[in-house]
Amino acid sequence: MLLRWLKDRRRRQLRAAPFPEAWQQILLSNVAMSTRLTDAEQDRLCGDIQVLVAEKNWEGCNGVVMTDEIKVTIAAQISLLVLAFEEQFFDNVLSILVYPHSYTTRGAMEAPGGLIVQGESLVIGQAVYRGPVILSWPDVIDGARGPNWGRNVVFHEFAHQLDMLNGRNVDGNPPLETREQFDRWQQVNDAEYARLTHACRLGHPTLLDCYGATNRAEFFAVATECFFQLPHEFAEIHPELYDVLRTFYKQDPGLRVTHQREVTPSGQ
Ligand SMILES: [Zn+2]
Repeated sequence: MLLRWLKDRRRRQLRAAPFPEAWQQILLSNVAMSTRLTDAEQDRLCGDIQVLVAEKNWEGCNGVVMTDEIKVTIAAQISLLVLAFEEQFFDNVLSILVYPHSYTTRGAMEAPGGLIVQGESLVIGQAVYRGPVILSWPDVIDGARGPNWGRNVVFHEFAHQLDMLNGRNVDGNPPLETREQFDRWQQVNDAEYARLTHACRLGHPTLLDCYGATNRAEFFAVATECFFQLPHEFAEIHPELYDVLRTFYKQDPGLRVTHQREVTPSGQ
């Protein structure tokens, strides 16, 4: 109880501290979406970034020297994902490990179509239950700066972390608020997952990356990436899935693109 009170007080202090100008510049340079927010959303974003930067253990791996640029760029995207939630600092994620490039991992992996493959694979990110999130810095930057064909490794891995909030069973079902929401979630996701799996098997072009056809957990993570990165295309091609994700995330990224604010970097 006391620990919780101390943590809340510390978070209030972090939020209230002035947001460093240098960090604002990092947002302008690296995180395109952060420039399309309302003033209230901007305030929330900056406060959340300050908490995440202070609370997480940030580790550079394989030669990455940890900098404010890396921390702020990643923290901003984590914050954007859950910007409309009451408060979500992913307390189960103590560490964020950053690699200079994609890295190899060994073991059993599930490939699209349910095939289990043993061996090494190149990965750009990983989310571990009650463990760290691992990210490749070039892929973080690519996703942060623009649509990147609907890809964003931070959104992807933290969607898995949302999925893990209701237990180790990562199944594409994060905690939902009501029975009705859960039923609609199941119905729409079942249909859309079947649609993607079918299209990928036949080699048809898809908006959602075929990695989402691996299983329902990957489907949720891939759909989350595309929902934020390419909202207009997503809403047009998958209107029901867009609506389900809009209800879940309590955000409509498609509106932001048309409400882009004029932003002039200071000094210009
Ligand atoms: Zn994944």
